[in-house]
Amino acid sequence: MCIFCKIAKGEIPAKILYEDEKTLAFLDISPRSKGHTLIIPKEHYETFEELPEEVAIDLIKAIKRVIKKLKSLNPDGYNILNNNGPVAGQEVPHVHFHIIPRYKGEKEEVIKLSPPVEVDLDGVLEELKNK
Ligand code: 5GP
Ligand code: ZN
Repeated sequence: MCIFCKIAKGEIPAKILYEDEKTLAFLDISPRSKGHTLIIPKEHYETFEELPEEVAIDLIKAIKRVIKKLKSLNPDGYNILNNNGPVAGQEVPHVHFHIIPRYKGEKEEVIKLSPPVEVDLDGVLEELKNK
């Protein structure tokens, strides 16, 4: 069983912020900022595209609730992040969203996209046409 499934089943402890029938939100054990929270479906799915639509909607609702809760930390903004696949930086193979509150004056590189690369945009569009 994966580590987030164990957290969802209460087999290992986590600092839980929010819970409903389908979703669970808990503080990240290695926070990138004060209030860094992970939101997971209680059922095991590895990546975002595997989620049934209803579960994806439940997760989005939970994300909104958690963001409301985190407002009391007075962040100046926040990132919502979802990594899929090891090449994208996914370390735990149980789909999760990061909510990372951001505070003015803190390092921007906590979570910055890498610089742009050269891509043939027309070529990409052509490859994706009618898919
Ligand atoms: P990923 O790189 O897969 O998008 O993010 C995984 C996140 O899970 C990391 O930020 C990491 O700190 C967090 N994490 C890994 N194991 C645990 C754990 O056992 N408990 C909690 N609360 N967070 C964890
Ligand atoms: Zn799992």
